[in-house]
Amino acid sequence: MQQLQAGGGDSRAAAEKVTKLIHRVARDVDGIVKIMDFCGTHEHTIVSGGIRSLMPENVELVAGPGCPVCITPAFYVDAAIRLAMDGVRVYTYGDVYLLPGSEPPGSSRPRTLADARAQGADVVIVYGIVEAIKHYRRDPKESVFIAVGFETTAPALASAVVNGRLPEKMTAINVHRLTPPIMRYAFEAHRDAPIRGVIAPGHVSTITGAKAWEFVPREFGIPTVVAGFEHIDVLKAVLLILLMLREGKPRLVNEYKRAVTWEGNTVAQRLINECCEVVDAAWRGLGYVPESGLAFRDKYSKYDALKQYGIREPTPEEWRYDLPPGCRCAEVTLGLAKPTDCPLFMKRCTPGTPYGPCMVSVEGACSVWARFGGGGLAESVAKSLSLI
Ligand code: SF4
Repeated sequence: MQQLQAGGGDSRAAAEKVTKLIHRVARDVDGIVKIMDFCGTHEHTIVSGGIRSLMPENVELVAGPGCPVCITPAFYVDAAIRLAMDGVRVYTYGDVYLLPGSEPPGSSRPRTLADARAQGADVVIVYGIVEAIKHYRRDPKESVFIAVGFETTAPALASAVVNGRLPEKMTAINVHRLTPPIMRYAFEAHRDAPIRGVIAPGHVSTITGAKAWEFVPREFGIPTVVAGFEHIDVLKAVLLILLMLREGKPRLVNEYKRAVTWEGNTVAQRLINECCEVVDAAWRGLGYVPESGLAFRDKYSKYDALKQYGIREPTPEEWRYDLPPGCRCAEVTLGLAKPTDCPLFMKRCTPGTPYGPCMVSVEGACSVWARFGGGGLAESVAKSLSLI
C-alpha cells in the first residue's frame, strides 16, 4: 500500500474506486471466493500493497505455485553441488545459489551451492545463460549451468542450444517447468474448497500468450484474468473475476494487453519446442506432475549435463519427499497453507537463514510474507478508505 500511495493521487483514487467496486460486487456473490495467483510477482504485489487486507470478508486471495526456485527438486541442487565439488564450474542464478538441497542443516557436507563455494568449489552467480556464456568465453572451463525457471526463462536456454551458442564444454541441468499443468494440479488439490478465480501469471503469458489459459474457464468454469503487476492491475483482476462470478459467465480476460498478446511470443515458443520435449517432471515437495517439465530432445543431448555426467534422475517410483523436516512448503506452494501457518516461519526460517525453499527467492511466498508482513500491512489504510 505504501507503493499504492507513492503512485500519487491518481493511482490512489483509482485503487480506492476499484476497491469499493470489489466490495459492492462481492456482496452479490454467494460464499467464499477463493482466488489464486500463479505468479510470485503477483504475490509480491499483493503483499507489498497490503491488498489482502483491502478485500471483503468473502474474498480470499491465495498464493499458488508461482516461484520456480521454490519448486526446484532437491535432487537437481544436489547434482549441481556434486559436480561443483568434483571440479566442474557451476553457473547459477543468485537465488538458486542459496537453495538448499537434501543435506540437513548443520551437515559438514555442502547443503547449498553457496556452501560448496565456501568449501572451494568454482560457483559463479549469473543473471542467465547469456551472461554465463560471456563469462565462459573470458575464462573457459568445463562448466554446467543450472537452468531453473518456467516458460519465461526457457527461451534463452533454448535459443543458445538451438543456435549453437553453448560453448563446447558447457552443459546445462534443465529444470524448466511448465505452468498450465501445475494449475490443473492445484485445482485438484483444492477440490474440497474449490478455487473460484485465477489471476494468471503475467510474465509467463508474455511467452505462452493468453491462449494458454483458455482451458481454465472452458474445462473448470473458473473466471481467469491475465494481469499485470501494478497494484491496480491486481485489484482490477479481482473485480473482473467477481463480475464474471456475479454474471455466472466464466471467461478468460486479458487485463495485461500492454505486454501480453493472445498468441504470445511465437518465436520463443518455436525455440522451446525445437530444443525440448514435454515430459512428466518432479516438483519439490509434490512429486511428479504429468507433462509439466521440459527435457532436451535427443539431438541436443550433448548439452544435457545429467546425461553427460551419467547422473540418473529418480523415476516417479523412486522419488522421495524432498523438503526438510517440518517445512510446509508443499502446502504453501499449493495455497493450502499460509507462510505464517508454518511453525518455523521467522523462527528457524528467515530470509537471512532460509531453512526451506519458499524462503530463498524474492518470489517465494514465505520470503515475500517475511519481508512485507503478510496480509495485514495495510489495515490502517483500508480503514481510512472506510472499507473495513
Ligand atoms: Fe518452509 Fe520456511 Fe516457509 Fe516454513 S517458513 S514453509 S520452513 S520455507
